[in-house]
Amino acid sequence: MTEPATTPAERIHYGACNLCEAICGLEFKVRGNEILQIKGDTADPLSRGHICPKAVALKDIYEDPDRLRKPMQRIGDQWQEIEWDAAFDLVATELAKAHLRDPDSVAAYLGNPSVHNYGVLTTSGQMLSPIRTRNRYSATSVDQLPHQLMAYWMYGHQLMVPITDIDRTQYFLVLGANPMASNGSLMTVPDFRHRLKALHARGGRMVVIDPRRSETAEVADAHHFIRPGTDAAFLLGLLKVMLDEDLLRPGRVAAFTDDLDTALDAIRPFELAALAAHCGIDEQVIQTIARDFAGADGAACYGRMGVSVQAYGSLCQWLIQLINLATGNLDREGGMLFTEPALDLVNGPAGSKPGSFGKHHTRVRGLPEFGGELPVAALAEEIETPGAGQVRALVTIAGNPVLSTPNGRRLDAALDSLDFMVSVDIYLNETTRHADVILPPTCALEHEHYDMIFHHFAVHNTARLSEPLFDKAEGTMHDWEIFQAVGKRLAEKLGQPARAMPRPQQIVDLGLQASPRKLSVKQLQATPHGLDLGALRPTLPERLVHADKRINAAPKPMFEELLRFGETLRDVMPASAGLKLIGRRHVRSNNSWMHNSHRLVKGNARHQLLMHPDDVSARGLTDGSTVRVRSKVGEIRVEMQASDEVMPGVVSLPHGWGHNRSGTRMGIAEAHPGASNNDLTDEHFLDGLSGNAALNGVPVEVLAV
Ligand code: SF4
Repeated sequence: MTEPATTPAERIHYGACNLCEAICGLEFKVRGNEILQIKGDTADPLSRGHICPKAVALKDIYEDPDRLRKPMQRIGDQWQEIEWDAAFDLVATELAKAHLRDPDSVAAYLGNPSVHNYGVLTTSGQMLSPIRTRNRYSATSVDQLPHQLMAYWMYGHQLMVPITDIDRTQYFLVLGANPMASNGSLMTVPDFRHRLKALHARGGRMVVIDPRRSETAEVADAHHFIRPGTDAAFLLGLLKVMLDEDLLRPGRVAAFTDDLDTALDAIRPFELAALAAHCGIDEQVIQTIARDFAGADGAACYGRMGVSVQAYGSLCQWLIQLINLATGNLDREGGMLFTEPALDLVNGPAGSKPGSFGKHHTRVRGLPEFGGELPVAALAEEIETPGAGQVRALVTIAGNPVLSTPNGRRLDAALDSLDFMVSVDIYLNETTRHADVILPPTCALEHEHYDMIFHHFAVHNTARLSEPLFDKAEGTMHDWEIFQAVGKRLAEKLGQPARAMPRPQQIVDLGLQASPRKLSVKQLQATPHGLDLGALRPTLPERLVHADKRINAAPKPMFEELLRFGETLRDVMPASAGLKLIGRRHVRSNNSWMHNSHRLVKGNARHQLLMHPDDVSARGLTDGSTVRVRSKVGEIRVEMQASDEVMPGVVSLPHGWGHNRSGTRMGIAEAHPGASNNDLTDEHFLDGLSGNAALNGVPVEVLAV
């Protein structure tokens, strides 16, 4: 007799979104394995009910028929499913073979989602450490490397990034950032819109400097266009005015800061007129901003992606630190503060490595290591160039460097020449199509999560552990199970001693208990909405990681960088000198794989090239037409939209598009291909100090098709 079918009961589940840095608390309504609703968790002490449209992508990814669930092996140009054990054996055998030939012949690349995923953060080393390669790369060097370098040099730890005290500041100066779309980056600030309203309600102001009138610029009190790649001139201009008008008052931090006067003396000789001409912002505007900033009762200067990924990204980040420090806004309420996360990777026994710089260099071009990683702009040449240490095997984890790193076409071709490639990834995308084996882990809703990194950058101290919404499907594996299985086999094949392989939750529990707040996983499990650990507060000098508990205001390499930049001031480009490409961010997009969510790509296309109407008519182009965009390294075709959102001389293209390569399996993305901005960016156009990719300010031509 057939049992009558029963409908599973509805249930409510709380968890945090790990798609971006904002860590929004979510409330899921679920029946069986069906997600009925996703909304913001109003009881979350950080996000207070906020979510963005990307949160629904969690449902789409969970249900996505394109998402891989079983290991895949490529035979020629065909893919076939294989069993986990066979896949692990194959991967361990090939990696061991490459390692025995030359440990540096195996490279690893970790994509951006790795840092949002505690399985990768805690256990990917269990797979990678037996390889002992120096060829380690990640998305850091196409993003925030200059921030981490300055944090390491000035405050002693790469995660000691000062955070805007957005809930109390009176003057918020934003460069190259769009928190209205991103909800903050290296400033975890869910619900930026309402926090900005509160800033305005208490009489505060926000001023935005950007070559594009972004969503954030739209709601600012003032927005000023700046020529791409010239932010260092604007920042130097601010300091110059503050110096000339005796506006600098570092206050209490001066007692534990070294060489601030030396740094400021190096800036004194710059001429405001030359700086203003270089960046394209009037002297009077720079003077007004400098005076308002220095005079505010709590001010914060914040520069993000647009400032980081440019030719003087490290110089910009140093100058931003100096502005906050010298005006007395570092380590004060309403200015920039350091966080005190529950799992504290900066201080105490749970602390991670503070950082390192230049301990070794890339083999071909000599680019410097930071924190054990090399700049990914060098990866293609390290694969192509014969000799000892040539990369012949590659491990990618949650990454799509073909779309996300400069001159992606060159890397695309280089990947084809590898002896072996394995990807730990849920999609067959533009990068993983080159793999020999793909090992797909479970998705975010199937495993627990604790955000180990972004609580370090949050505007309010909180802690939240998310339990899995669903059990993992039969026959699937979590990422840490994959790393442990391969790592164990690899160590055996290489004759290395067996290592302890704790689970992520054990590692997080130990980290929580060893941190100053002495919390535990058990306590966080008992508070599913998260714990409120209080507002940010002054923590210096105790929190500084330098042994002498002092701030180094003048890292030596910065003086050379300043001189180098001074040389460029002679090359003031007339507006007619050509077009410069910049990126942009949309609230419905973050990484390339989100383009396989129908709900995030439907409606008006969002991947067009934006171009100022004057530049459109000067070239005889037609608004809405497809154009050719050509740079030193490549050419793309893309729809162009005339828009005065961008300043004359600037064109803007978002990142993560270009889903028109053969052999991928992302049906929705392939139907909305767009074009990859990294087919235009140049792997030789870098922040000269750190090796971070300069993705903004790339010279391009735009031509009719
Ligand atoms: S802003 Fe959107 S994507 Fe980011 S954590 Fe919040 S809901 Fe998720």
